[in-house]
Amino acid sequence: MRILIVEDETSIANFIRDGLTEEGFAVDVADNGKKGLQLALDNLAEYDVILLDWMLPGLNGIEICRSIRRENEIIPIIFLTAKDTVDDAVFGLEAGANDYIRKPFSFEELLARIRVLMRSHQQVTTEFGAGDIRMDVERHIVSKEGKTVDPHAKRICTVRISPSQ
Ligand code: CA
Repeated sequence: MRILIVEDETSIANFIRDGLTEEGFAVDVADNGKKGLQLALDNLAEYDVILLDWMLPGLNGIEICRSIRRENEIIPIIFLTAKDTVDDAVFGLEAGANDYIRKPFSFEELLARIRVLMRSHQQVTTEFGAGDIRMDVERHIVSKEGKTVDPHAKRICTVRISPSQ
């Protein structure tokens, strides 16, 4: 289980990293937006969850989230945000995040949200693969090396799961 944290506040990043490491997760930390996006795109197939701060130097969390979603529609993303209006939360979810948590938060709450997302991600993901090609027949997504090849690959997936004659 591997998690990416994109957070420029060192104390918060360390707090989350230490807690998740203790829970048995492998954790990568990026302290600015560009590095975070690069790590995410380079390792999309590896990460189980991405934790994204909203306000970041370089690229902000919304821009990173949108860029990730262009390549991968299913990887769970949680926003870590100090913004606390309903509009901001909706904006974050519309950018493609699965959930958000408002600072300050307890580690237990964050961990619970991560586990819920990982569970639902595993339930809905019905993947088959050969080599570096993955086919998600539930969500009709075909990907290569973690990057979505055809997000509307319903026909291909339907053919894949048709019973043989
Ligand atoms: Ca920040």
